[in-house]
Amino acid sequence: MPSEPPDWTPEAEIPAGKPASSSAGWRWDNSYVRLPEGLHSPVPPTPVSGPRWGIFNHDLANTLGLDGHQLGQPEQVGFFVGNQLFEGSEPIAQAYAGHQFGNLARLGDGRAILLGEHLDPAGRRWDIQLKGPGLTPYSRGGDGRAALGPMLREYLISEAMHALGIPTTRSLAVALTGEPVFRETTLPGAVLTRIAASHIRVGTFELFSALGDVQALKTLAAYTLLRHFPERANDPKPGKSLLEAVIERQSALVAQWMRVGFVHGVLNTDNVAVSGETIDYGPCAFMDAYDPATVFSSIDRQGRYAFGNQPKITSWNLARFAEALLPILDDQESAAVEVAQACLESFPAQFQRNWLATYRGKLGLLTEEDADAALIEDLLAWMHSTQADFTQTFRGLRPIAPGPSGSTASNLNADQQNLAHSESTPSDSKFLDWHRRWNERLERQGLALPRVLECMHRHNPVIIPRNHAVQAALDAASEQNDWTPFHNLLTALKTPYRETGSPESLSQPPPPGTPRCRTFCGT
Ligand code: AMP
Ligand code: MG
Repeated sequence: MPSEPPDWTPEAEIPAGKPASSSAGWRWDNSYVRLPEGLHSPVPPTPVSGPRWGIFNHDLANTLGLDGHQLGQPEQVGFFVGNQLFEGSEPIAQAYAGHQFGNLARLGDGRAILLGEHLDPAGRRWDIQLKGPGLTPYSRGGDGRAALGPMLREYLISEAMHALGIPTTRSLAVALTGEPVFRETTLPGAVLTRIAASHIRVGTFELFSALGDVQALKTLAAYTLLRHFPERANDPKPGKSLLEAVIERQSALVAQWMRVGFVHGVLNTDNVAVSGETIDYGPCAFMDAYDPATVFSSIDRQGRYAFGNQPKITSWNLARFAEALLPILDDQESAAVEVAQACLESFPAQFQRNWLATYRGKLGLLTEEDADAALIEDLLAWMHSTQADFTQTFRGLRPIAPGPSGSTASNLNADQQNLAHSESTPSDSKFLDWHRRWNERLERQGLALPRVLECMHRHNPVIIPRNHAVQAALDAASEQNDWTPFHNLLTALKTPYRETGSPESLSQPPPPGTPRCRTFCGT
């Protein structure tokens, strides 16, 4: 609990707590708790009766400068369910609002508690949060708890996203509580330890805007700039600067999701982190066959958060962010609206630039031509019409080594035709025609094949967390206490761009006829 009164003003530095170095390498330096009351509420985790380890992330502990050997010991598990508190932590729940499927609601951490912030050896600041540690002042009708399956799902997919090179919150541990949680069925309870650059959301700003609390907005904006965009902290127009920075990060993030077929599933504004990290792994899933209309979430009946709609909905979410910032963009409302509009108008072009850059990479294009967008779109259209697997099609593309000019699909010999597509890619005439255009483009680029392949391999994963493999791993762990499939999948997902010979059952699409997986919010 904060012992001193909140004394922070936007002009100050990141508010220093009492940096506490305790054992295991923790360097607590809690700043959010020192922001004014209203932004958060003090709340301790609720102890549980039978804590037991699920999984501990030694690699991440190492990155954070923590002694994983010590923290992962059996007697330490109590810290990871909230039965004990690390010396130097100051637990709070954060206040926020959010547009959920278009409607603004007052929310807050209903089942999460921020223990504080840890400074890693490089001086980077990380939120350390428990997810599922009991009731908070923002729990509304919920129980403040989480079930093991969904917490393992977040662990697995967030770590997979990190290995894919996509900004994301990460998972340090999952510990079981030894207590049941009641959903449609009775499930084992668990607590996830989530690591994030911060948990400041678009919805955090929306709350104080809706409350008309301009001072809180100013404080939050200045704090966010200092924490995430320090190079902009002295900008004379902090509101505009923050809006620009968040638009930049979000346009880059969504382009990365589109690169790997990730469907977030519940892009409500409370699930959009201003840091530009992917956050909230509730109903997310990866697409198998390419279809922009892919939706997994059982409650997203209109396809609001479908794969292909993510850029548009992000633009909508950013408009809500801009609206929330209006009071601090300019004293004159009309001038503030103009600033907001000008910033928001830059999003489509920024996203398109990022998307083109990443899809050029998928095709091994290191140079730019105007017709590249059409080349990419035509491949996607072919994939859509043939229900081709998104990941395998890109990874299976084989350029033909620049040979005698004029080698086209129609005059390829049998060996070259084999090279032109992988086993899993149908060799219909449309594809071969596209493949000829792509190769002509590669020939014009004139770069050596190894460079092209290296670029393609960096942008096209061999393995993604396929729904059928994820589900099998979670079911075995949470229903049979068999953790082998979970560990095998996690290991395979740690090197997604390398052909490591991981079992085909983990990297292949589901067998034909497998029903599309359904995912759920509020798990
Ligand atoms: P989500 O759908 O996970 O983004 O959650 C939306 C809101 O519901 C957030 O304010 C959560 O803290 C809250 N929430 C979700 N599950 C629970 C739960 N079991 N108990 C209390 N609050 C919850
Ligand atoms: Mg959420």
